[in-house]
Amino acid sequence: MHRKTWMEINLDMIGDNIRKLKEICGKKVVAVLKANAYGCGDRQVMQAVLAGGADMIAVSSVDEALMIRQEGYEGPVLILGSADPEDIPVMIEHDISAAAFSAEWVQEAVLKGCRGLRVHMKVDTGMNRIGFKDNNELKKAFVLLKDAGCVMEGIFTHFCCADTDMEMTDSQYSRFASAVKALDYPFEWIHCDNSDATVFFRDDLSNACRVGISLYGISTYEKTLKYPVALYSEISMVKQVGKGETIGYGATYTAEEDMWVGTVPIGYADGFIRANQGRKVYVDGHLCEVCGRVCMDQMMIRLPEKLSPGTTVEIFGPHISVEDMADELHTIPYEIFCLISPRVTRKYIRHGVISEEDNIRLVQTGIL
Ligand SMILES: *Cc1c(COP(=O)(O)O)cnc(C)c1O
Repeated sequence: MHRKTWMEINLDMIGDNIRKLKEICGKKVVAVLKANAYGCGDRQVMQAVLAGGADMIAVSSVDEALMIRQEGYEGPVLILGSADPEDIPVMIEHDISAAAFSAEWVQEAVLKGCRGLRVHMKVDTGMNRIGFKDNNELKKAFVLLKDAGCVMEGIFTHFCCADTDMEMTDSQYSRFASAVKALDYPFEWIHCDNSDATVFFRDDLSNACRVGISLYGISTYEKTLKYPVALYSEISMVKQVGKGETIGYGATYTAEEDMWVGTVPIGYADGFIRANQGRKVYVDGHLCEVCGRVCMDQMMIRLPEKLSPGTTVEIFGPHISVEDMADELHTIPYEIFCLISPRVTRKYIRHGVISEEDNIRLVQTGIL
């Protein structure tokens, strides 16, 4: 890595987090590694969660499931989202489980032939995204798939407000329980809990929890998880800006007094969006304001004194939580993680030391 902007992902802590989550819920745990494990690297995060006891990997698409298989993982893989029935032969070949989520999908699957496909029935209990809303429709679809030779492996739903609205969650759960009862089938996998529900929601019906964001320490209810992810850059240039001078595109920042300014090689093309203007980053014991517009590849910050080029800049990490950053940007930590672009090199900590650097473009071109 030659550009001094990087993400650190502590795989030891991810392992600790999944062990803790498993202990809390006392059920099988499905590690949700969609979107390249929330931008943290599916290959590396998968190693950590499997070592920590994950019982299944979940992703969002056939492509993501194939990548998981390509890494050599032979255990259960579930696609949570809508897979194209065209891809059923690929899913069967690679032993990938699909979500059956609508009457149309099931009709097409049966028409195309789905003998041997592993299926989880998806129940829509209030999210109104994908899934069966009606128990009769669900039952019909279930029978069609079963008769067509599918392996009826599971049933699941997804809570929309596990972080905010217990009543809504309770009502979604009741809907789910009625759907499970309607099918009255000994599913191997019955699952409804996302990260937040895994911690607070208790039921005797489900036998597995799906955890995504809490692998990274982010949880509304559980405050003992560890924060394994941080984003860093470093000062490339330090200069004095005189009173009355402006900084950056659009000259949107005017120095009210003489000040020290550091330039930092991180910008919106790295996922550090322009809305960060005016926010603070952590440098050498100080919180430093982002001055002027964030550029594509660089930004400028106000320094408390003349610091040296090469000084580390923490965007989020031990001193600035990604939750606070998300609040200030009116978004959620998921989005902050997912926006960190492939250009940013990922460094992985194993057994306490940085043991790997990964950057897909640099690897593809032979630079790394
Ligand atoms: C993303 C996702 C999850 C994981 O949610 P977290 O809040 O990150 O734990 C679980 N289930 C489904 C269906 C999802 O799409």
